[in-house]
Amino acid sequence: MDIKIKDVKVILTAPEGINLIVVKIITTEPGLYGLGCATFAYRHLAVKNLIENYIRPLVIGQEVSKIEQIWHLMHNNAYWRNGPIENNAISGIDMALWDIKGKLANMPVYDLLGGKCREGVPIYRHADGKDVNEICENISKYQEQGITNIRCQLGGYGGTYGDAPMTAPTGSPKGVYLDSKTYMRDTIKLFEDIRSKVGYDIGLCHDVHERIRPIEAIKFAKELEQFDLLFLEDAIPLDQGEWMRQLRDKTIIPLAQGELFNNPYEWKFMITEQLIDYIRIHISQIGGISPARKLQIFAEQFGVKTAWHGPGDMSPLAHAANIHIDLAAHNFGIQEWSGTEPPNFVIQDLKGPREALLDVFPGLPEYRNGYVYANDQPGLGVDINEEEAAKYPCENTVTTWTQTRLRDGTLQTP
Ligand code: MG
Repeated sequence: MDIKIKDVKVILTAPEGINLIVVKIITTEPGLYGLGCATFAYRHLAVKNLIENYIRPLVIGQEVSKIEQIWHLMHNNAYWRNGPIENNAISGIDMALWDIKGKLANMPVYDLLGGKCREGVPIYRHADGKDVNEICENISKYQEQGITNIRCQLGGYGGTYGDAPMTAPTGSPKGVYLDSKTYMRDTIKLFEDIRSKVGYDIGLCHDVHERIRPIEAIKFAKELEQFDLLFLEDAIPLDQGEWMRQLRDKTIIPLAQGELFNNPYEWKFMITEQLIDYIRIHISQIGGISPARKLQIFAEQFGVKTAWHGPGDMSPLAHAANIHIDLAAHNFGIQEWSGTEPPNFVIQDLKGPREALLDVFPGLPEYRNGYVYANDQPGLGVDINEEEAAKYPCENTVTTWTQTRLRDGTLQTP
Protein backbone atom coordinates (compact mmCIF):
# COMPACT_ATOMS: atom_id res chain seq x y z
CA MET A 1 0.00 0.00 0.00
CA ASP A 2 1.61 3.28 -0.97
CA ILE A 3 -0.88 5.91 0.09
CA LYS A 4 1.14 8.93 1.16
CA ILE A 5 0.67 12.14 3.13
CA LYS A 6 -0.07 14.79 0.50
CA ASP A 7 -0.64 17.78 2.77
CA VAL A 8 -1.14 18.81 6.39
CA LYS A 9 -3.58 21.52 7.34
CA VAL A 10 -4.05 23.22 10.71
CA ILE A 11 -7.61 24.26 11.60
CA LEU A 12 -8.10 26.65 14.52
CA THR A 13 -11.56 26.97 16.02
CA ALA A 14 -13.15 28.02 19.32
CA PRO A 15 -16.85 27.03 19.21
CA GLU A 16 -17.12 27.21 23.01
CA GLY A 17 -14.67 30.09 23.44
CA ILE A 18 -11.79 27.65 24.11
CA ASN A 19 -8.99 27.58 21.51
CA LEU A 20 -8.92 24.18 19.75
CA ILE A 21 -6.28 23.04 17.25
CA VAL A 22 -7.19 20.35 14.73
CA VAL A 23 -4.80 18.73 12.26
CA LYS A 24 -6.13 17.47 8.95
CA ILE A 25 -3.93 15.09 6.96
CA ILE A 26 -4.83 14.97 3.28
CA THR A 27 -3.63 11.83 1.49
CA THR A 28 -2.77 10.90 -2.08
CA GLU A 29 -5.93 8.72 -2.09
CA PRO A 30 -8.78 10.96 -3.33
CA GLY A 31 -11.28 11.71 -0.55
CA LEU A 32 -9.22 10.00 2.19
CA TYR A 33 -8.20 12.24 5.09
CA GLY A 34 -7.58 11.98 8.81
CA LEU A 35 -8.18 14.31 11.76
CA GLY A 36 -6.28 14.69 15.01
CA CYS A 37 -6.19 16.93 18.08
CA ALA A 38 -3.15 19.16 18.70
CA THR A 39 -4.87 21.40 21.21
CA PHE A 40 -2.68 23.43 23.55
CA ALA A 41 -5.30 26.07 24.22
CA TYR A 42 -2.96 28.63 25.80
CA ARG A 43 -0.19 28.48 23.15
CA HIS A 44 -2.23 27.73 20.04
CA LEU A 45 -0.23 29.91 17.63
CA ALA A 46 3.04 28.27 18.67
CA VAL A 47 1.64 24.79 17.90
CA LYS A 48 0.20 25.99 14.57
CA ASN A 49 3.56 27.48 13.60
CA LEU A 50 5.46 24.32 14.57
CA ILE A 51 3.16 22.08 12.53
CA GLU A 52 3.08 24.31 9.46
CA ASN A 53 6.76 25.20 9.30
CA TYR A 54 8.54 22.14 10.71
CA ILE A 55 6.31 19.05 10.86
CA ARG A 56 4.40 19.51 7.60
CA PRO A 57 7.56 19.48 5.41
CA LEU A 58 8.90 16.55 7.45
CA VAL A 59 5.90 14.25 6.96
CA ILE A 60 4.72 15.11 3.44
CA GLY A 61 5.49 12.10 1.23
CA GLN A 62 5.53 9.63 4.16
CA GLU A 63 3.39 6.48 3.82
CA VAL A 64 0.27 6.85 5.95
CA SER A 65 0.49 3.23 7.13
CA LYS A 66 3.74 3.76 9.07
CA ILE A 67 2.37 5.45 12.18
CA GLU A 68 5.01 4.20 14.60
CA GLN A 69 7.91 5.20 12.36
CA ILE A 70 6.41 8.63 11.63
CA TRP A 71 5.87 9.21 15.37
CA HIS A 72 9.56 8.60 16.09
CA LEU A 73 10.59 10.66 13.07
CA MET A 74 8.68 13.65 14.51
CA HIS A 75 9.77 12.95 18.11
CA ASN A 76 13.49 12.89 17.29
CA ASN A 77 13.58 15.49 14.56
CA ALA A 78 14.24 18.57 16.71
CA TYR A 79 16.87 16.71 18.79
CA TRP A 80 15.39 18.12 22.05
CA ARG A 81 12.23 16.24 22.94
CA ASN A 82 9.05 16.10 25.03
CA GLY A 83 7.94 19.70 25.36
CA PRO A 84 4.22 20.46 25.46
CA ILE A 85 4.25 22.45 22.19
CA GLU A 86 6.10 19.67 20.36
CA ASN A 87 4.06 16.83 21.88
CA ASN A 88 0.73 18.43 21.06
CA ALA A 89 1.84 19.04 17.48
CA ILE A 90 2.97 15.40 17.17
CA SER A 91 -0.36 14.27 18.63
CA GLY A 92 -2.28 16.03 15.85
CA ILE A 93 -0.44 13.99 13.21
CA ASP A 94 -0.50 10.75 15.22
CA MET A 95 -4.26 10.81 15.83
CA ALA A 96 -4.95 11.74 12.21
CA LEU A 97 -2.89 8.73 11.05
CA TRP A 98 -4.85 6.39 13.37
CA ASP A 99 -8.06 7.92 11.96
CA ILE A 100 -6.81 7.17 8.44
CA LYS A 101 -5.76 3.63 9.35
CA GLY A 102 -9.23 2.96 10.72
CA LYS A 103 -10.88 4.35 7.59
CA LEU A 104 -8.64 2.14 5.39
CA ALA A 105 -9.41 -0.94 7.49
CA ASN A 106 -13.10 0.01 7.74
CA MET A 107 -12.79 -0.37 11.52
CA PRO A 108 -13.19 1.96 14.51
CA VAL A 109 -9.87 2.65 16.26
CA TYR A 110 -10.93 0.53 19.27
CA ASP A 111 -11.05 -2.48 16.94
CA LEU A 112 -7.55 -1.74 15.68
CA LEU A 113 -6.45 -1.79 19.34
CA GLY A 114 -7.88 -5.25 20.00
CA GLY A 115 -11.60 -4.64 20.30
CA LYS A 116 -14.00 -3.62 23.04
CA CYS A 117 -13.52 -4.78 26.63
CA ARG A 118 -16.88 -3.16 27.49
CA GLU A 119 -19.69 -1.61 25.45
CA GLY A 120 -19.61 1.85 27.04
CA VAL A 121 -17.19 3.92 29.10
CA PRO A 122 -18.13 4.88 32.69
CA ILE A 123 -17.40 8.52 33.38
CA TYR A 124 -17.13 11.05 36.14
CA ARG A 125 -18.32 14.65 35.96
CA HIS A 126 -17.25 17.79 37.80
CA ALA A 127 -19.54 19.52 40.30
CA ASP A 128 -18.51 22.73 41.94
CA GLY A 129 -20.33 25.58 43.59
CA LYS A 130 -20.08 28.33 46.16
CA ASP A 131 -21.33 26.14 49.02
CA VAL A 132 -22.36 22.61 49.86
CA ASN A 133 -26.02 23.21 48.97
CA GLU A 134 -25.15 24.37 45.46
CA ILE A 135 -22.75 21.47 44.99
CA CYS A 136 -25.36 18.96 46.21
CA GLU A 137 -27.92 20.46 43.80
CA ASN A 138 -25.45 19.91 40.97
CA ILE A 139 -24.74 16.38 42.19
CA SER A 140 -28.44 15.52 42.12
CA LYS A 141 -28.76 16.90 38.56
CA TYR A 142 -25.95 14.59 37.51
CA GLN A 143 -27.54 11.68 39.38
CA GLU A 144 -30.79 12.27 37.47
CA GLN A 145 -28.75 11.76 34.29
CA GLY A 146 -27.41 8.43 35.53
CA ILE A 147 -23.97 9.67 36.58
CA THR A 148 -22.62 7.80 39.60
CA ASN A 149 -19.14 9.30 39.93
CA ILE A 150 -18.62 12.99 40.59
CA ARG A 151 -15.61 15.22 41.34
CA CYS A 152 -16.51 17.80 43.97
CA GLN A 153 -14.79 21.15 44.36
CA LEU A 154 -15.68 24.11 46.54
CA GLY A 155 -15.33 27.21 44.33
CA GLY A 156 -13.37 25.55 41.52
CA TYR A 157 -9.92 24.43 42.59
CA GLY A 158 -9.69 26.62 45.66
CA GLY A 159 -8.84 30.28 45.84
CA THR A 160 -10.54 33.09 43.96
CA TYR A 161 -9.46 35.24 41.06
CA GLY A 162 -9.29 38.99 41.47
CA ASP A 163 -7.52 41.76 43.36
CA ALA A 164 -5.07 40.84 46.09
CA PRO A 165 -6.80 40.04 49.41
CA MET A 166 -6.10 41.83 52.69
CA THR A 167 -3.60 39.10 53.62
CA ALA A 168 -1.27 40.06 50.77
CA PRO A 169 1.36 42.81 51.00
CA THR A 170 0.57 46.23 49.56
CA GLY A 171 1.18 46.37 45.84
CA SER A 172 0.44 42.65 45.20
CA PRO A 173 -1.01 42.05 41.72
CA LYS A 174 -4.26 40.43 40.65
CA GLY A 175 -4.37 36.65 40.54
CA VAL A 176 -5.94 33.54 42.05
CA TYR A 177 -5.22 33.76 45.77
CA LEU A 178 -5.27 30.56 47.81
CA ASP A 179 -4.91 30.01 51.53
CA SER A 180 -4.02 26.34 51.78
CA LYS A 181 -5.16 25.88 55.38
CA THR A 182 -8.57 27.41 54.66
CA TYR A 183 -8.87 25.37 51.47
CA MET A 184 -8.10 22.09 53.24
CA ARG A 185 -10.39 22.83 56.19
CA ASP A 186 -13.28 23.87 53.92
CA THR A 187 -12.82 20.83 51.69
CA ILE A 188 -12.86 18.36 54.62
CA LYS A 189 -16.08 20.01 55.84
CA LEU A 190 -17.50 19.86 52.30
CA PHE A 191 -17.00 16.09 52.06
CA GLU A 192 -18.45 15.61 55.56
CA ASP A 193 -21.57 17.50 54.47
CA ILE A 194 -21.84 15.81 51.07
CA ARG A 195 -21.54 12.32 52.54
CA SER A 196 -24.15 13.13 55.18
CA LYS A 197 -26.53 14.40 52.46
CA VAL A 198 -25.97 11.89 49.63
CA GLY A 199 -24.58 8.84 51.46
CA TYR A 200 -21.83 6.47 50.40
CA ASP A 201 -23.36 4.87 47.29
CA ILE A 202 -22.05 7.57 44.99
CA GLY A 203 -18.41 7.72 43.87
CA LEU A 204 -16.71 10.99 44.83
CA CYS A 205 -13.31 12.33 43.95
CA HIS A 206 -11.42 15.57 44.50
CA ASP A 207 -8.70 17.44 42.58
CA VAL A 208 -5.97 19.19 44.59
CA HIS A 209 -4.66 20.63 41.31
CA GLU A 210 -1.13 20.80 42.78
CA ARG A 211 -2.18 23.78 44.87
CA ILE A 212 -0.73 22.80 48.25
CA ARG A 213 2.69 21.79 49.50
CA PRO A 214 3.56 18.08 49.53
CA ILE A 215 3.66 17.88 53.34
CA GLU A 216 0.21 19.49 53.46
CA ALA A 217 -1.00 17.01 50.84
CA ILE A 218 -0.04 14.10 53.10
CA LYS A 219 -2.04 15.51 56.03
CA PHE A 220 -4.95 16.37 53.73
CA ALA A 221 -5.03 12.89 52.16
CA LYS A 222 -5.06 11.20 55.58
CA GLU A 223 -7.98 13.37 56.71
CA LEU A 224 -9.94 12.61 53.53
CA GLU A 225 -9.56 8.82 53.93
CA GLN A 226 -12.75 8.59 56.00
CA PHE A 227 -14.92 9.77 53.07
CA ASP A 228 -14.14 6.73 50.90
CA LEU A 229 -13.12 8.67 47.80
CA LEU A 230 -12.71 7.05 44.41
CA PHE A 231 -9.41 8.93 44.26
CA LEU A 232 -7.53 12.09 45.18
CA GLU A 233 -6.26 13.82 42.05
CA ASP A 234 -2.90 15.56 41.48
CA ALA A 235 -2.08 15.91 45.18
CA ILE A 236 1.63 16.42 44.43
CA PRO A 237 3.01 18.98 41.94
CA LEU A 238 4.60 17.61 38.76
CA ASP A 239 8.06 18.86 39.74
CA GLN A 240 7.86 17.34 43.25
CA GLY A 241 7.06 13.82 41.97
CA GLU A 242 9.42 12.07 44.43
CA TRP A 243 7.02 13.03 47.23
CA MET A 244 4.58 10.43 45.85
CA ARG A 245 6.64 7.78 47.66
CA GLN A 246 5.99 9.41 51.02
CA LEU A 247 2.36 10.17 50.27
CA ARG A 248 1.80 6.53 49.25
CA ASP A 249 3.54 5.28 52.35
CA LYS A 250 1.40 7.34 54.73
CA THR A 251 -2.13 7.11 53.37
CA ILE A 252 -4.51 4.51 51.99
CA ILE A 253 -6.48 7.01 49.88
CA PRO A 254 -6.43 5.96 46.18
CA LEU A 255 -4.23 8.32 44.18
CA ALA A 256 -4.60 9.60 40.61
CA GLN A 257 -1.83 11.59 39.03
CA GLY A 258 -0.60 12.88 35.75
CA GLU A 259 -2.62 15.38 33.68
CA LEU A 260 0.52 17.55 33.36
CA PHE A 261 2.91 14.72 32.45
CA ASN A 262 4.70 15.05 29.13
CA ASN A 263 7.80 12.89 29.58
CA PRO A 264 7.87 9.13 30.32
CA TYR A 265 10.38 9.78 33.11
CA GLU A 266 7.58 11.51 35.00
CA TRP A 267 5.35 8.42 35.09
CA LYS A 268 7.73 5.44 34.85
CA PHE A 269 8.72 5.23 38.52
CA MET A 270 5.22 6.02 39.77
CA ILE A 271 3.92 2.98 37.87
CA THR A 272 6.77 0.51 38.47
CA GLU A 273 6.81 1.38 42.20
CA GLN A 274 2.98 1.24 42.28
CA LEU A 275 2.74 4.68 43.86
CA ILE A 276 -0.52 5.53 42.10
CA ASP A 277 -3.82 3.79 41.42
CA TYR A 278 -4.82 5.77 38.33
CA ILE A 279 -2.71 7.27 35.57
CA ARG A 280 -4.47 10.28 34.07
CA ILE A 281 -2.40 11.72 31.26
CA HIS A 282 -3.70 14.33 28.81
CA ILE A 283 -3.53 12.41 25.54
CA SER A 284 -2.30 15.19 23.21
CA GLN A 285 0.15 16.41 25.84
CA ILE A 286 2.08 13.11 25.71
CA GLY A 287 2.00 12.88 21.89
CA GLY A 288 -1.23 11.15 20.89
CA ILE A 289 -2.75 7.67 20.68
CA SER A 290 0.54 5.80 20.07
CA PRO A 291 2.28 6.75 23.34
CA ALA A 292 -1.00 6.64 25.31
CA ARG A 293 -1.69 3.06 24.20
CA LYS A 294 1.85 2.03 25.20
CA LEU A 295 1.44 3.71 28.58
CA GLN A 296 -1.94 2.03 29.16
CA ILE A 297 -0.46 -1.42 28.51
CA PHE A 298 2.62 -0.62 30.63
CA ALA A 299 0.33 0.45 33.50
CA GLU A 300 -1.67 -2.78 33.19
CA GLN A 301 1.45 -4.80 34.05
CA PHE A 302 1.64 -3.04 37.43
CA GLY A 303 -2.05 -3.02 38.37
CA VAL A 304 -2.49 0.70 37.65
CA LYS A 305 -5.74 1.76 35.98
CA THR A 306 -6.40 4.57 33.53
CA ALA A 307 -8.35 7.75 34.23
CA TRP A 308 -7.43 9.92 31.23
CA HIS A 309 -7.77 13.69 31.52
CA GLY A 310 -10.96 14.82 29.74
CA PRO A 311 -11.38 18.61 30.24
CA GLY A 312 -13.05 21.27 28.08
CA ASP A 313 -9.74 22.46 26.66
CA MET A 314 -9.33 19.53 24.30
CA SER A 315 -11.17 18.92 21.04
CA PRO A 316 -13.84 16.25 20.49
CA LEU A 317 -11.22 14.36 18.46
CA ALA A 318 -9.14 13.94 21.61
CA HIS A 319 -12.24 12.97 23.62
CA ALA A 320 -12.91 10.34 20.95
CA ALA A 321 -9.30 9.11 21.11
CA ASN A 322 -9.65 8.74 24.90
CA ILE A 323 -12.88 6.76 24.48
CA HIS A 324 -11.40 4.41 21.84
CA ILE A 325 -8.44 3.52 24.10
CA ASP A 326 -10.78 3.24 27.12
CA LEU A 327 -12.97 0.74 25.25
CA ALA A 328 -9.99 -1.43 24.33
CA ALA A 329 -8.18 -1.20 27.70
CA HIS A 330 -8.58 -4.09 30.15
CA ASN A 331 -7.12 -1.87 32.90
CA PHE A 332 -9.50 1.01 32.21
CA GLY A 333 -10.57 2.71 35.46
CA ILE A 334 -12.79 5.70 34.75
CA GLN A 335 -12.97 8.56 32.24
CA GLU A 336 -13.21 12.26 33.08
CA TRP A 337 -15.95 13.68 30.87
CA SER A 338 -16.47 17.40 30.54
CA GLY A 339 -19.58 16.89 28.47
CA THR A 340 -20.32 17.17 24.79
CA GLU A 341 -23.97 16.31 25.22
CA PRO A 342 -26.75 17.56 22.96
CA PRO A 343 -28.43 20.85 23.93
CA ASN A 344 -31.43 19.15 25.52
CA PHE A 345 -29.17 17.57 28.13
CA VAL A 346 -30.31 19.13 31.40
CA ILE A 347 -26.94 19.66 33.05
CA GLN A 348 -25.59 21.71 30.16
CA ASP A 349 -27.40 24.74 31.60
CA LEU A 350 -24.48 24.90 34.01
CA LYS A 351 -21.89 25.13 31.24
CA GLY A 352 -23.46 27.05 28.36
CA PRO A 353 -24.79 25.98 24.98
CA ARG A 354 -23.20 23.09 23.14
CA GLU A 355 -24.87 23.59 19.76
CA ALA A 356 -21.79 25.20 18.19
CA LEU A 357 -19.51 22.35 19.23
CA LEU A 358 -21.92 19.82 17.75
CA ASP A 359 -22.12 21.80 14.50
CA VAL A 360 -18.34 21.98 14.12
CA PHE A 361 -17.60 18.37 15.13
CA PRO A 362 -20.27 15.96 13.89
CA GLY A 363 -19.97 12.42 15.23
CA LEU A 364 -18.56 13.08 18.67
CA PRO A 365 -18.95 10.34 21.30
CA GLU A 366 -22.36 10.26 22.99
CA TYR A 367 -23.25 10.24 26.66
CA ARG A 368 -26.18 8.02 27.68
CA ASN A 369 -27.15 7.13 31.24
CA GLY A 370 -23.77 6.93 32.96
CA TYR A 371 -21.73 5.79 29.96
CA VAL A 372 -20.09 7.33 26.90
CA TYR A 373 -20.27 5.43 23.62
CA ALA A 374 -18.11 5.67 20.51
CA ASN A 375 -20.20 5.95 17.37
CA ASP A 376 -18.68 2.83 15.70
CA GLN A 377 -17.74 4.63 12.46
CA PRO A 378 -14.34 3.76 10.91
CA GLY A 379 -11.40 5.63 12.44
CA LEU A 380 -12.10 8.02 15.31
CA GLY A 381 -15.63 8.61 14.01
CA VAL A 382 -15.48 12.41 14.41
CA ASP A 383 -15.48 14.79 11.45
CA ILE A 384 -15.05 18.57 11.16
CA ASN A 385 -17.26 21.04 9.33
CA GLU A 386 -14.67 23.59 8.22
CA GLU A 387 -17.21 26.24 7.26
CA GLU A 388 -18.75 26.07 10.74
CA ALA A 389 -15.28 25.97 12.36
CA ALA A 390 -14.35 29.23 10.62
CA LYS A 391 -17.28 31.00 12.31
CA TYR A 392 -15.53 30.65 15.70
CA PRO A 393 -12.02 32.14 15.45
CA CYS A 394 -9.48 31.58 18.24
CA GLU A 395 -8.44 34.52 20.36
CA ASN A 396 -4.91 35.25 21.46
CA THR A 397 -5.12 36.70 24.96
CA VAL A 398 -2.99 36.63 28.10
CA THR A 399 -3.92 33.59 30.20
CA THR A 400 -4.92 34.71 33.67
CA TRP A 401 -6.35 31.68 35.51
CA THR A 402 -2.87 30.14 35.80
CA GLN A 403 -1.60 33.03 37.94
CA THR A 404 -2.18 31.40 41.31
CA ARG A 405 -0.69 33.06 44.37
CA LEU A 406 -0.14 32.27 48.04
CA ARG A 407 -1.37 34.52 50.85
CA ASP A 408 1.79 36.62 50.62
CA GLY A 409 1.52 37.08 46.86
CA THR A 410 4.11 34.47 45.81
CA LEU A 411 3.27 32.69 42.55
CA GLN A 412 2.30 29.03 42.99
CA THR A 413 1.62 26.16 40.54
CA PRO A 414 -1.90 26.65 39.17
MG1 MG B 1 -7.17 17.70 37.35
